Amino acid sequence: MKQEEKFKGKGIRKCRICGGSRALVRAHKLYMCRRCFREVARSIGFKKYG
Ligand SMILES: [Zn+2]
Repeated sequence: MKQEEKFKGKGIRKCRICGGSRALVRAHKLYMCRRCFREVARSIGFKKYG
């Protein structure tokens, strides 16, 4: 639970998967870069980005 709290902070600007900060997707509180988001989006059923 403590880890989750960490991600709720306002200063999140890094991808929580690869640590990159490029094209960060913050929508839906995902906080991951577009590249990782695409990978995850596929697994959770998103089709908007890819
Ligand atoms: Zn990433």
